[in-house]
Amino acid sequence: MKVTEHIEKAKETIFSFEILPPLKGQNIQSIFENIDPLMEFNPPFIDVTYHREEYVYKELNGGLLKKQVVKKRPGTVGICAAIQNKYQVDAVPHILCGGFTKEDTENFLIDLDFLGIDNVVALRGDAVKSETYFKAEKEGHRYASELVTQIQDLNEGAYLDEELQNSSETDFCIGVAGYPEKHMEAPSLDSDIHFLKKKIANGADYIVTQMFFDNQKYFEFVDKCRKEGITVPIIPGLKPLSTKKQLNLIPHRFHVDLPDALIKEVVKCKDNKEVRQVGIDWCIQQSKELKKAGIPVLHYYSMGKSDNIQQIAKEVF
Ligand code: FAD
Repeated sequence: MKVTEHIEKAKETIFSFEILPPLKGQNIQSIFENIDPLMEFNPPFIDVTYHREEYVYKELNGGLLKKQVVKKRPGTVGICAAIQNKYQVDAVPHILCGGFTKEDTENFLIDLDFLGIDNVVALRGDAVKSETYFKAEKEGHRYASELVTQIQDLNEGAYLDEELQNSSETDFCIGVAGYPEKHMEAPSLDSDIHFLKKKIANGADYIVTQMFFDNQKYFEFVDKCRKEGITVPIIPGLKPLSTKKQLNLIPHRFHVDLPDALIKEVVKCKDNKEVRQVGIDWCIQQSKELKKAGIPVLHYYSMGKSDNIQQIAKEVF
């Protein structure tokens, strides 16, 4: 079922979450162990992130360096199929522009369609670590809006090979990313919302936001989007802080601010066990306020660990 249908059908706020594929070499059991404790909160859909290739340098005899391409977290499609099979809930794979040609994208989408996957989140992806700016593949997409167009084309039966006759239509529900504190490369929030609107115009059905720690930022973002004529659901993404290091890491990596009141609480903590509790309490407050405001879905970034999400869900759902 489509994410938008789950939202329309829901009588109260829905719980959902995102997981990462395990590092290469680990077993799928580690994923199930993190999903199992969250199933009592009836998530109708679970997102699975996609991780593009990275370049690593291996030292050869004589000190020469050999550049190698590796995917550290493969398995997005396999995990989605396993989730749908084991839990009978919708799995939502993320799909990127980065590292994909249009042909790769089409074939990826065909696999998802054959597996009975109804939803995808279409993203540009970040630059590979060795590059400053995002570079599209020669035959790939530069922006998520272009990727949305390709998915929408397939939904209308238009494949890359125009000579294909009687080709079947897919029926993907398409999610895209939104940034209450603006995307790091956007010159302004208005500019970012302008391009967000383009993703919707090209066929996206809903938005999931980057994490935020101050609900006011989310409410203002939704207001701005609505004023610009964006009417699709805007699902808030929430992440509980769990380590002291994240005070610097999260703003650096995700380009979001942390409220002073939260920083003060974290700084007071003796160890990361205490920080984890502060993160849980903060996220519970955020969640309760969002739920009270009638937000249809709360979406949690589990980052591969579910014990804190479980504690939050117990208090909120
Ligand atoms: P876009 O929508 O393409 O926007 C990128 C930038 O370009 C923005 O600054 C935008 O304002 C600007 N822009 C857009 N269109 C144009 C245009 N036509 N002309 C000029 N400028 C334009 N990354 C992963 O690698 N894997 C994941 O699974 C993943 N999941 C995510 C889930 C969510 C909910 C979020 C919020 C992010 C996720 N990311 C993931 C990170 C994401 O890939 C990065 O934030 C990336 O830098 C931007 O992706 P996007 O889809 O928002 O890009």
